[in-house]
Amino acid sequence: MDTLLSAEAMSGRAAAWKREGLTIGFVPTMGFLHRGHVSLMEALRPRVDRLVVSIYVNPLQFGPKEDLGRYPRDPEGDSQKCAAVGVDALFMPENLYPSGFSTSVEVSGLTERLCGAFRPGHFEGVATVCTRLFGLTRADVAILGEKDYQQLQVVRRLVRDLALPVEIVGGELIRDEDGLALSSRNVYLSPDERKRALTLSKAMRAMASGGGDVEARLALGRSILDVDKLDYLEIVDPDTLQPATDLSKPTRAVIAAFVGKTRLLDNVAVAAV
Ligand code: AMP
Repeated sequence: MDTLLSAEAMSGRAAAWKREGLTIGFVPTMGFLHRGHVSLMEALRPRVDRLVVSIYVNPLQFGPKEDLGRYPRDPEGDSQKCAAVGVDALFMPENLYPSGFSTSVEVSGLTERLCGAFRPGHFEGVATVCTRLFGLTRADVAILGEKDYQQLQVVRRLVRDLALPVEIVGGELIRDEDGLALSSRNVYLSPDERKRALTLSKAMRAMASGGGDVEARLALGRSILDVDKLDYLEIVDPDTLQPATDLSKPTRAVIAAFVGKTRLLDNVAVAAV
């Protein structure tokens, strides 16, 4: 596995692979890799000739009061995990953007609700970094986790609207044995906070399997939660992310909540009844 430290090195490598007619798969991450990230790499590995993983904590997608400065890092552990899965290139630029960078990519509509309402500018940062990363890696296919469900839908829309030549694949949300959705940010949780964090996945499970209409399921979810601040708990249309009123079609239960200072996400498919 090669470690590429600059945008130039990445684009040069991708161009060389393309000249050889090889297909490129891509897993964008912010590092501190866990089994969720590894599952994305494993899902893509058999589909492509060359597999690229990026690790870049993208300042554009963090708000001024968010955890950019203390985001966890483990470059050596990350590198070992990537090598073990058969990654060809680990792209870890210190700085991703060229000097004078002045472009921003905005996906409207889909980004206005849910996380977008609580993290102004976040999805603009995500869409901008993804566009640049897709360009640098020349990826034929990229995989993003369903753990960040709104992000996945925003990137799908971005790629469709701008006709970017990359296929977007969604990867299953991977959980810890106790049900907690794996996240690099789980490392922030104290033992007591971790126990309370489990109420997110419990609420998601109950809402997916319980009976009743949307209101009944939301009330059930709320009754289970033990969090410090609930940003949102909703049942939404899986494509438009608008609130669902009718459970006769497949929907998605989605949540974002703080436990202590840690913002956690979870979501689950709610089968049509
Ligand atoms: P991050 O490093 O948190 O930016 O995540 C990088 C990619 O890994 C994103 O596409 C995430 O959705 C995905 N990811 C993070 N956690 C999980 C998880 N528990 N299961 C599946 N994918 C995940």
